[in-house]
Amino acid sequence: MDKENMISLVIPVYNEEASLPHLMERLRPVMKDMGKEYEIIFIDDGSSDKSLSILKGFAAHPHVKVLELTKNYGQHAAIFSGFSVAKGGIIVTMDADLQNPPEEIPKLVKVMEEGNYDVVGTIRKERKDSVFRTFPSRIVNAIARRITGVRMTDWGCMLRAYRRSIVQHMIKSHEQSTFIPALATYFAKHVTEVEVSHEERYAGSSHYSMRKLINLQFDLVSSFSDFPLKLIMYAGIGMAFLGISLGFVLGIARLVYGAAWAAEGVFTLFAILFAFIGFQFFALGVTGEYIGRIYKEVRRRPEYVIDRIYSSDVEENIR
Ligand code: UDP
Ligand code: MG
Repeated sequence: MDKENMISLVIPVYNEEASLPHLMERLRPVMKDMGKEYEIIFIDDGSSDKSLSILKGFAAHPHVKVLELTKNYGQHAAIFSGFSVAKGGIIVTMDADLQNPPEEIPKLVKVMEEGNYDVVGTIRKERKDSVFRTFPSRIVNAIARRITGVRMTDWGCMLRAYRRSIVQHMIKSHEQSTFIPALATYFAKHVTEVEVSHEERYAGSSHYSMRKLINLQFDLVSSFSDFPLKLIMYAGIGMAFLGISLGFVLGIARLVYGAAWAAEGVFTLFAILFAFIGFQFFALGVTGEYIGRIYKEVRRRPEYVIDRIYSSDVEENIR
């Protein structure tokens, strides 16, 4: 059933009705010209626009398979559902909004095959996103590099190629809050990066709001280290040290300048107190994030539920 020489393309789709026809138009010649067996797996991640019906139309194409999820599970879960049915020896993920040019796919495959890599990551040459989207990414890229210890330049670009074995490991990990590029690098032995171009979104705007983005970034950081927890511990030690020193200074100042001076110092103390309270809340928040994720993990809910599979392959339809 698995096909070593086949290429599986996995594309999550959430309300992308405008770009889908163009995506397909550009994908078809690219995949054909590679001269390899291939399949394109689209995952409808609970779209509320016409995406699903457009995708169903694509399913008549012998190389296309469409998964319909029961609701919106998010980009990474959607990709996982695609992984679960992918048959190829090389599995390529990409976005549906045409920000990742399909013409770059052969380059990824070639690099992977020639260098015998497990993962081929990508660096977006000139990223075409707003500052609100690129600035948080930049911070996260820096943090991710530090904590995962893998020197990937750009974690965010989803146009990536994975070996089948890596994808199998990822499926087996059953993680709820996860970040695919980081998880893959964790399992991989030979990793490389290539530069790819990046385009403007074909239509609409990013589906990542600030809230979703922060959540995703926390997925990336928390699933690979307890670095934030440690950071808080160190900050706590530092704060305590500062507080004690300050207490000494204030005590001496009171002895030197008398009680009148100390009474005025009350406000300073309040200010310090507030700073501490603020810090404690922050610490609680971060711990809470971890606990929330632990809770999610222990519930072991399925990361996604596939409602239906559309494909011209009759056998598949019966499933
Ligand atoms: N996507 C998805 N489910 C979601 C959000 C996004 O399947 O809940 C898909 C979306 O259709 C696109 C890809 O994930 O193919 C990347 O999303 P988007 O372009 O909004 O993110 P950005 O490019 O800003 O990272
Ligand atoms: Mg995009």
